Amino acid sequence: MSEVMANNFIHNIIDEDRASGKYGGEVYTRFPPEPNGYLHIGHAKSICLNFGTALKYGGKCNLRYDDTNPVKEDVEYVDAIEDDIRWLGFKWEKQLWASDYFDTMYKAAETLIEKGLAYVDDSSAEEIKRTRGTLTEPGIESPCRNRSVEENLAMFRDMKAGKYADGEKVLRAKIDMASPNINMRDPVIYRIVHAPHHNTGDKWCIYPMYDFAHPIEDAIEGITHSICTMEFEDHRPLYDWVLKEVGFWPEPPQQIEFARLNLTNTVMSKRYLKALVDDGSVTGWDDPRMPTIAGLRRRGYTPEAIRDFCARVGVAKANSMVDIGLLEHCIREDLQNRVESRNVVEDPVKVVITNYPEGETEMVEVENNKNVPEMGTRQIPFSREIYVDGADFMEVPAKKYFRLFPGNEVRVKGAYFIKCEEVVKNPDGSVKELLCTYDPATKSGEGFDGRKVKGTIHFVDAATAVPVKIRNYSYLMVEGEDGKLVLNPESLVEKDGFAEPLIAEAKPGERFQFFRHGYYVRDLKDTGEGAPVFNRIVDLKSGYKPK
Ligand code: ATP
Ligand code: MG
Repeated sequence: MSEVMANNFIHNIIDEDRASGKYGGEVYTRFPPEPNGYLHIGHAKSICLNFGTALKYGGKCNLRYDDTNPVKEDVEYVDAIEDDIRWLGFKWEKQLWASDYFDTMYKAAETLIEKGLAYVDDSSAEEIKRTRGTLTEPGIESPCRNRSVEENLAMFRDMKAGKYADGEKVLRAKIDMASPNINMRDPVIYRIVHAPHHNTGDKWCIYPMYDFAHPIEDAIEGITHSICTMEFEDHRPLYDWVLKEVGFWPEPPQQIEFARLNLTNTVMSKRYLKALVDDGSVTGWDDPRMPTIAGLRRRGYTPEAIRDFCARVGVAKANSMVDIGLLEHCIREDLQNRVESRNVVEDPVKVVITNYPEGETEMVEVENNKNVPEMGTRQIPFSREIYVDGADFMEVPAKKYFRLFPGNEVRVKGAYFIKCEEVVKNPDGSVKELLCTYDPATKSGEGFDGRKVKGTIHFVDAATAVPVKIRNYSYLMVEGEDGKLVLNPESLVEKDGFAEPLIAEAKPGERFQFFRHGYYVRDLKDTGEGAPVFNRIVDLKSGYKPK
């Protein structure tokens, strides 16, 4: 894979570090998901940045699960996370767990106590919150703040030994209750949770807090540049404080923050996405409407398009909202020159060409990809009975409608001009079929007399048509009245269609352009009996123009 992320401010920092010989010129990053859900497109940005930066500098990137909270994690997500990273095209150096380092973290906490830099506090969570102060007022020191080293050590060991109930005591770093940075006002670094951990079982009933654990994890692994999102900017002084005071490491890692990805029409919180899965609003984490990597994959997105999107979004410090049109633009651009076209009609209308010989079929030539002549052509059957798209016929034409309507002539792409002579109705008034005539002299422009038609439509031969299920997806979330995103009741419109015979050979995951409709993929999951299912990846064009 060539360079994944365009040059950015983080790379400038790394360039300077390498020039000054910091970290011996090495680059070691990590991607640290919490295994409490599937990865989404926001994570893809972090993955491309962390793995892509390591690739760019010939460095390494670890996959490290943040499993410091025993009650929240669920290992079922681990396989999904790994599949997604591999699918995006990246390889981790090591697969690790934060919980692998609980012993070192515990030792680090005792080191802080011995240095007089941590104390056991009996205050409740509410009291700690209440005495934290505000942006304009300092916090209030806890009555436990001046416990002796010996007392703190003994109590911390008792915490570890299980002598206290959840919430009865915590270990706090002793920093500065008057710090202008609230994160530095004696943050809690260990708490009691009597719950088994998927990795360490019942060994621990005290667990380190993220702000204490993360710098230690980074340092143990020899991470050089610990890249995270902006909400951790105010936590960086604490990150640096832990590394300095624990002091096990000669050249501590540095935390660098970037703005998280926000996308229009998209909610990117694992908690919210999980709620949609649990309440049945979607069919699963990999529902093609989900912004998860698994959902995008099933929708038909390619890893190339997602990497391209992440590169184009770029990396900055300022939060911004990215138009989802950019993501769609990336997949269109990726597919437009590499997938073959297929003739498929939705809401089919039958056309009988009354002057075409009965029982005869001819093969007509159509392009595989109109942008790429080298992709050649293919032959598709044409005969007296064909299907056209429901949208290509109007009994009473609207203004500027140039497709089929009674009395009008159109070009059938690859075949002939046909003219609508009569509309045959069912007893209920619906259209049964259109009786048309064709002009044999207009085949693919041959023998054509210069007569012009304004509309071009496509077709599927009726005798050989393959029934297909078409799932037309649109945004899962749309803006509600107050501007907030709400579920879109029309995010999936399922249609029956007919396709040219070759579609029967489509493999799950294979992508096509459905001529005049959009890009589609054969669904990876619903592959059982019955008509093959195709998901709309994206429509053919949009008003979106990348800057
Ligand atoms: P969520 O709020 O969606 O659950 P999270 O930040 O809690 O996300 P983690 O599993 O903790 O999810 O994230 C792993 C990494 O991915 C972190 O480094 C985090 O900063 C990064 N990340 C998560 N969401 C985004 C996003 N929208 N844009 C960029 N990076 C993100
Ligand atoms: Mg998180």
